Amino acid sequence: VAPRVAPSVHAIVATAAGGPEVLELRELPDPTPGPAEVVVRVAAAGVNFIDTYRRSGLYRVPYPHVVGSEGSGEVVTVGADVTLVAPGDRVAWASSDGAYAELAVVAERDLLVVPEGVDDRVAAALPLQGLTAHYLVTSTFPVAPGHDVLVHAAAGGVGLLLTQLAAQRGARVVATVGTAEKERLAREAGAADVVRYRELDDLTRELPALVRDLTGGRGVHAVFDSVGKDTFDASLASLARRGTLVLFGASSGPVPPVDPQRLNSGGSLFLTRPTLGDHTATRDELTWRAGELFDAVRGGTLDVRVGATYPLADAADAHRALESRATTGKVLILP
Ligand code: NDP
Repeated sequence: VAPRVAPSVHAIVATAAGGPEVLELRELPDPTPGPAEVVVRVAAAGVNFIDTYRRSGLYRVPYPHVVGSEGSGEVVTVGADVTLVAPGDRVAWASSDGAYAELAVVAERDLLVVPEGVDDRVAAALPLQGLTAHYLVTSTFPVAPGHDVLVHAAAGGVGLLLTQLAAQRGARVVATVGTAEKERLAREAGAADVVRYRELDDLTRELPALVRDLTGGRGVHAVFDSVGKDTFDASLASLARRGTLVLFGASSGPVPPVDPQRLNSGGSLFLTRPTLGDHTATRDELTWRAGELFDAVRGGTLDVRVGATYPLADAADAHRALESRATTGKVLILP
């Protein structure tokens, strides 16, 4: 009689807070969905900066933590109360964990049904990075013709999508990027001007001066800053009177406490620190935003560039690449 072996799936687990070396490929029990959940066979898992924050401990999570907050794939089993999808349907989602795995458990409320004409790899870039770019330009600072905006890390995952959406809404985009290759990508995405900020001796002094030169001395109406610690002061100093600093990430580290008086002396400035969850809190808002992105991909107006793919076992290398500024566009893990 053959021994009974419990079915298992491979997944990437952060065993404790730490560097990429805490990521381990493990075998976990075959998941079963709760009543309002589905199990998805993961086709592609999006690699996002937030995965590194949850791994490193910058964002608190319990360990062991199955990493991965964005993915796409095919539904294999559905919980008793699920009505939105059935086995065989193609879906994508953003959630707080579990996507770096062969099978992921996803809450029905987080699911996006992927339409024909959007492949799995593209679909895996939209629920987190795409929706972020969308809410930033539609809701946080509604970009319109005549606006000058500064987008940092414009060749990144969010950056390339944000640059395209802002340019398509009529803004003149000034982009910052790390390398010549990233400059080429930012220009293709619609940036009118590109600054290679790593080549500046004193970013905080020189970048605002360059931005003012490019905007007739005024400065930009908005800065979309995902870099955080290293760019914050330059971002604030690049704004036009009554401009808005949208601080939405911390790729270089968190920004230290800020004295509100700086907004006054800078020219009645606005500072906001938005997050995706507050812009997808209802199904209506989630599906509206996702629908616009899916339509843009199908219509050929939004290009999702997949810069690199990694097998599941090499998730640590994907994190190393993302954290060392070596990636462009979307990074995917293909289980
Ligand atoms: P990216 O693909 O943008 O990768 C990060 C990029 O940031 C790098 O490629 C690099 O580009 C730039 N960078 C500058 N300084 C550093 C540094 N010290 N270390 C590493 N990278 C640096 O990542 P994502 O698109 O996944 O995320 C971008 C940011 O947006 C993250 O901070 C993330 O947390 C945030 N985010 C926020 C959301 C929200 O709702 N608030 C939702 C989604 C993402 P370069 O070489 O050009 O400098």
